[in-house]
Amino acid sequence: MGILGATGTVGQRLVAMLEGHPQLVVTAVAASDRSQGKTFGEACVWRLPGNVPSALRALQVRPPEPPLDCDIVLSSLPADTAGPVEAQFAAAGYPVISNSSSHRMDDDVPLLIPEVNAGHLAMIARRSGRGFIVTNPNCSTIMIALALAPLQSRFGVEAGVVTTMQAISGAGYPGVASLDITDNVVPYIASEEEKIERETLKILGRVDGGGARGRPAEFPLSELGLHTAPLCPILVRDEPDRPQPRLDRDAGGGMSITIGRIARDRVLSHRFVALSHNTIRGAAGAAILNAELLAAEGYLSGMINEQ
Ligand code: NAP
Repeated sequence: MGILGATGTVGQRLVAMLEGHPQLVVTAVAASDRSQGKTFGEACVWRLPGNVPSALRALQVRPPEPPLDCDIVLSSLPADTAGPVEAQFAAAGYPVISNSSSHRMDDDVPLLIPEVNAGHLAMIARRSGRGFIVTNPNCSTIMIALALAPLQSRFGVEAGVVTTMQAISGAGYPGVASLDITDNVVPYIASEEEKIERETLKILGRVDGGGARGRPAEFPLSELGLHTAPLCPILVRDEPDRPQPRLDRDAGGGMSITIGRIARDRVLSHRFVALSHNTIRGAAGAAILNAELLAAEGYLSGMINEQ
């Protein structure tokens, strides 16, 4: 794998989660011109517990452009940079698995949560040879869609009202200035509400057109044995004071979401609280799980350790 934006908040999570991964090995890292030419160890101010994985310390940080010394690209670039860069890698024949919002709503790009809409893999259009783009949703949308999907398939969902309280890690590093967030709540993230609305509809919608009309997921995810997939993607707790970030965000290695306080609601029939880990389920873990699904479904043949 090559990681674009490897020195950032999501990039570091990707690096940490891929250390010792049974199928996926990081062979290239790319970042801005601030970091290019330095070793990853020099360029990356490590913000997670432990140290920069030793295998990557001496790797030289490259510009995010093909050719890159890898078969598959994982992108955690800022959206304004990601759009053209990801398209360039896909056109050059690389499968691109992205966290960024730039291509999420493209017609030929699955907005993928393996437990919810694996059937959307049918949308993949090869841009050149084996190149294509697959994205994971916005960090809040992933949790919302995961929570709604079983309700949608069992009962149908007519409407939802959502309020989010988001981790400041969602703004990347260095993020919101400490003087803006201390003793305060920031009530607005540009484009966030629009992303949550349109992305949730795309994820819960069915693929339509061509050979992909209404194609449901053809396999139960648990049978694929994906390394990063949690045993239970959704945990439900009965205690009135759960979920709580410190107690529940690491459930399922950070890949399970936790639901609590399910109750009848006089306005919209039912209500509940959901919590998920922002940079694992909401970003790096989501992208890695997408890579594992692509591998299991044969989209990465010859590019991964298949033993
Ligand atoms: P971040 O901490 O600011 O990291 C940005 C990364 O991109 C760094 O590696 C940076 O390299 C690199 N970069 C910045 N400008 C560049 C340029 N012009 N050319 C090449 N590389 C450049 O951001 P982040 O929070 O990791 O977010 C990355 C992406 O993931 C964004 O699109 C974001 O919307 C998305 N996302 C984030 C979260 C989250 O929870 N944080 C969740 C879901 C999705 P340098 O270190 O060299 O500057």
